[in-house]
Amino acid sequence: MDCIFCKLVKGELPADILYQDDEVMAFRDIDPKAPHHFLVIPKRHIATLNDLTPEDAALVGRLQVTAAQLAKEYGFDESGYRVVMNCNQDGGQTVWHIHMHVLAGRTLSWPPG
Ligand code: C5P
Repeated sequence: MDCIFCKLVKGELPADILYQDDEVMAFRDIDPKAPHHFLVIPKRHIATLNDLTPEDAALVGRLQVTAAQLAKEYGFDESGYRVVMNCNQDGGQTVWHIHMHVLAGRTLSWPPG
């Protein structure tokens, strides 16, 4: 399977890894859109949010908990941050392996573009 995030998980491509456990990995986005821009992904390949099943509920929860822990660790939990998961073309998804963006370090406008 030719998935760039699976390659990061396997160590076949370099990544600035911030956290990993048996199911989850977090790393710095290669093209940051904010002073802090992390991606939190499941290690298992899941192409889009549409591919999630009820059995994945705990895994998705772990992504969110990891994001919250990173916010504390990197000191932007109080100032604030945004988590975003894009789905398919209109949602702005460009990598087909689900990922949670964690953006912080500046005031983020709303609504997003
Ligand atoms: O939500 P979307 O699919 O557009 O986000 C993909 C993200 O993956 C982008 O922010 C892009 O910069 C990031 N990326 C990365 N490392 C790669 C390839 C893409 O951090 N090797």
